[in-house]
Amino acid sequence: MDTASLSFTALFCALLVLGLVVRTVLASRQMRHVARHRGAVPTAFSNTISIEAHQKAADYTLTKTRYGLLESTIDAAPLLGWTLLGGLDWLNQVLLEAMGGGLLQQLALLAAFVLIGGLITLPLSWYATFRIEERFGFNKMTLSLWLADLFKGALVGALIGLPIAALVLWLMGAAGPTWWLWAWGVWMAFNLLALVLYPTVIAPLFNKFEPLSDEDLKARVNALMQRCGFAAKGLFVMDGSKRSAHANAYFTGFGAAKRVVFFDTLLKQLSPEEIDAVLAHELGHYKRRHILKRIVLMFALSLAGFALLGWVSSQAWFYSGLGVTPSMDTPNDALALLLFMMVVPLFTYFLSPLMAQLSRKHEFEADAYAVEYTNGRDLASALLKLYKDNASTLTPDPLYARFYYSHPPASERLSRLQAA
Ligand SMILES: [Zn+2]
Repeated sequence: MDTASLSFTALFCALLVLGLVVRTVLASRQMRHVARHRGAVPTAFSNTISIEAHQKAADYTLTKTRYGLLESTIDAAPLLGWTLLGGLDWLNQVLLEAMGGGLLQQLALLAAFVLIGGLITLPLSWYATFRIEERFGFNKMTLSLWLADLFKGALVGALIGLPIAALVLWLMGAAGPTWWLWAWGVWMAFNLLALVLYPTVIAPLFNKFEPLSDEDLKARVNALMQRCGFAAKGLFVMDGSKRSAHANAYFTGFGAAKRVVFFDTLLKQLSPEEIDAVLAHELGHYKRRHILKRIVLMFALSLAGFALLGWVSSQAWFYSGLGVTPSMDTPNDALALLLFMMVVPLFTYFLSPLMAQLSRKHEFEADAYAVEYTNGRDLASALLKLYKDNASTLTPDPLYARFYYSHPPASERLSRLQAA
């Protein structure tokens, strides 16, 4: 191998190892911190959270963190198998021999890779649902629902993914040296379309979404939405209890498709005032333009990503450094896409603290918005119920939370609410 390929192999291995080391250090810190505080409820919560709930949260956090660490270690095996151990190269050669070169072969390579990757992670996902979630009383799924979800997900993924992949592969071959700019345009158009189609077409394939049925509650909610200047048909209740006892609320879509979704599991737990407060928080995400900011950030990051892909896909070291022999007489575009998708997370993992920080900033802003339009005390008590129902720990390791948490830890969030 030439020096450029060898250097790239070395960088790849170094990042893989460094990522695993950082993950292990952070997870160990988190587990030690949570275990050390398992014995007593933090004083700020001593009147609101029972010791049983606190210890359940600690045990759940310990189990999940241990599982997450195991998962990321196990995930390194297929990554090495596909790349340096020659898996992707082998799969590509087999398909080349069977089908010859061309768009169809490249599409088959993508599909086979996704299918095999999905089968590899299947046991882990089964374990997470039917062992971990089950043990803590969160799982409400039957095996047949799990299988039906899997089948539906694969079908929807193929129906959407294959045409997009075919279009991108075609552009890579036909659009000249600036193909990546065109491909980026396609990718962005697809993402914008998904923002509209996900809440209105795709999510309803898996869950039922219904407008509020309680008339009193509906009147309250509509009044709040009007105060905040939001279209009146925007609140939906989702049958989350079909799959899990976890409770949540989220904001999705944009334009005419924008909506706030409450899980039925959450709605059952909250008083009308608390529902108002949570809804105001979600509206805050919209009113403070968090959705728009996220879309703009995604546009910029993926433009950089596609430009990088455009460059590395024409470099021989990118292939040979990752254990793949590029073909001389047929396009290597599918190989480039797959290798890129495998390698990029090794780099972007180290950006997760920045993304988490931005997300926590947005959560604080949405909380502040909710306090403007509703009562901060109601939001605080709703959040406490959410933490309790989801068995979220109240005592995370500070460094772990800085690195990963998309939402501020309970203590920080509630003390800000109290201050306001
Ligand atoms: Zn939020």
